[in-house]
Amino acid sequence: PGVIFSGIQPTGVPHLGNYLGALQQWRRMQDSAAADTKLLFSIVDLHAITMPRPRGLLRQWKREMFAALLAIGLDPSRSIIFYQSMVPAHSELQWILSCTASTGYLNRMTQWKSKLSLKDNVSLSSNEAKQTLKHGLFSYPILQAADILVHRATHVPVGEDQRQHLEFARECVTNFNHTYGTSCLVAPETILSPVKRVMSLRSPLQKMSKSDADATSRILLTDSAHAIKNKVLKAVTDSQDGISYDPVGRPGVSNLVELASYFDAAGRTPEQLVEAEFGAGVSLKALKNRVAEAVDAELAPIRERYAEYLAKGELIDRLVEEGAEKARESAEGTMRLVREAVELGA
Ligand code: ATP
Ligand code: MG
Repeated sequence: PGVIFSGIQPTGVPHLGNYLGALQQWRRMQDSAAADTKLLFSIVDLHAITMPRPRGLLRQWKREMFAALLAIGLDPSRSIIFYQSMVPAHSELQWILSCTASTGYLNRMTQWKSKLSLKDNVSLSSNEAKQTLKHGLFSYPILQAADILVHRATHVPVGEDQRQHLEFARECVTNFNHTYGTSCLVAPETILSPVKRVMSLRSPLQKMSKSDADATSRILLTDSAHAIKNKVLKAVTDSQDGISYDPVGRPGVSNLVELASYFDAAGRTPEQLVEAEFGAGVSLKALKNRVAEAVDAELAPIRERYAEYLAKGELIDRLVEEGAEKARESAEGTMRLVREAVELGA
């Protein structure tokens, strides 16, 4: 009987990268899971406050994310969907894990650096880090480890960018279990989606991201057919003629070819697709049109359901409460063992 856990930050409407790299995988795992598999999907608001954001939007973003998760096909009678901050055990375990986690390891993580637009080789003791790095952003991976471990998840479906955080979570298990001579925490396995990283449409060396300042860099699950087409047609490519698949030399074009391959009904790889359909004489514009149409075909039913769910305020309120209740129960079983091992509580 496995436990599947994953999370997403309420930092805006999810985009195509979130969908292909994570959400679609969540739905597939839900739909194919054995009856005794527990599934939990968290809207991680405590993670969202690690970065500055406009005031007054977090609550709205959480509701929008809840509606989006329902729209992509998560079923609250099968999957536990909840706001992280409604389950205090996540923060409690975060503190406990932080007492056996290594700052040296956190220092090597790249996410805090990319969030602050610092180079990957910058360290905690650099002046740039001292000026801008908040402790919460630095210890983000410990909270993420707590999210996973507090439910004793066995499998965690995430995008490629989260791979090192999952390794860190396993390190937290080793440190904790060793320090306290217990085996109560379980090392989770990373499940990478076949679509690892969808790149930004504006700067194709960066991943598509909810918090990128340029809204044209990402396609939202709620974008109209018109908006999708505009963004794809304006996607940054290069000045070379024709279409080829070369992620290093031609990242912009290759990102589009990957998207075309992903939505290809025959399931061909990018290389096979270029060979079969994008030979000499086929324009970049034709590739872009094809991608825009395929993306719209996939997203149209999702954006319709999203609008329907968002209009049902009371339904979402009720589901939020029910999800939190189930998640608290799930976490409490682990926390009893953890408190016992650490000698906390009465
Ligand atoms: P933010 O910019 O606020 O960090 P994000 O777009 O990175 O937002 P997250 O909430 O951090 O989204 O991540 C949610 C899930 O989506 C994670 O599993 C992550 O690996 C996946 N993911 C995020 N961006 C991409 C992408 N461009 N391609 C594939 N998967 C992605
Ligand atoms: Mg992210």
